[in-house]
Amino acid sequence: MANISLKNVKKSFGSVEVIHDVSLDVRDGEFLALVGPSGCGKSTLLRMLAGLEEVTAGEIQIGAKTVNDLSPRERNIAMVFQSYALYPHMTVRQNMSFNLRLSGTPKAQQNERVDEAARMLGLENLLDRKPANLSGGQRQRVAMGRAVVRNPEVFLFDEPLSNLDAKLRVQMRAEIKALHQKVRTTSVYVTHDQIEAMTLADRIVVLNGGIIEQVGRPLDLYREPANLFVAGFIGSPA
Ligand code: ADP
Ligand code: MG
Repeated sequence: MANISLKNVKKSFGSVEVIHDVSLDVRDGEFLALVGPSGCGKSTLLRMLAGLEEVTAGEIQIGAKTVNDLSPRERNIAMVFQSYALYPHMTVRQNMSFNLRLSGTPKAQQNERVDEAARMLGLENLLDRKPANLSGGQRQRVAMGRAVVRNPEVFLFDEPLSNLDAKLRVQMRAEIKALHQKVRTTSVYVTHDQIEAMTLADRIVVLNGGIIEQVGRPLDLYREPANLFVAGFIGSPA
């Protein structure tokens, strides 16, 4: 687990600035949801945390380290996307242990970690299957399992449930919450779904046009939105 700190972070693509001077602290073990309309910069912010996008200005710290110049692999984070990106020719076990194999973890330890994550995510009976023989929800659980086995300091989620149907989304939401309660890994969860953010997050960050409109606990945002944008987005009582 680690706290995350963004200090005056900016991002430009060419001459267009899309993240304007964002400062934010994520606490150790916290589940933080990042919400806002399409195009407001959620993925860009998350990709900068992951090291997939360079920071134009400012500083990002994870734990005690400034990570601006560290590659994704050096950051000890795990990212879960909406496209599951599982390897089709590998079994569930092989998919889950892939990153451990790359990092040279001994075989016995790989199996131990995969078994533990599989128990946590209800995948024990699916370890020998190929992704083609899994449902959408099962695939998403394997993608999470692949992140969990690495025992990262930070989980980053980018709209991981947006490809699933409504019923499955509700079920997976509960699973993500249960998982976080077990592992307590600091998590940043991007979604454009307010309800998902309200049910999952310790705190919510509302992003709009590359700036933070408000940060707070779900009920506080709901009851005391800082402005009309937050009120409209979080859905205050009429
Ligand atoms: P969100 O995830 O909230 O929908 P994004 O972070 O994907 O928003 O995008 C924020 C803004 O940055 C958008 O205007 C988008 O067009 C722009 N953008 C994102 N990635 C790139 C890129 N690689 N090159 C140019 N513009 C980009
Ligand atoms: Mg996005």
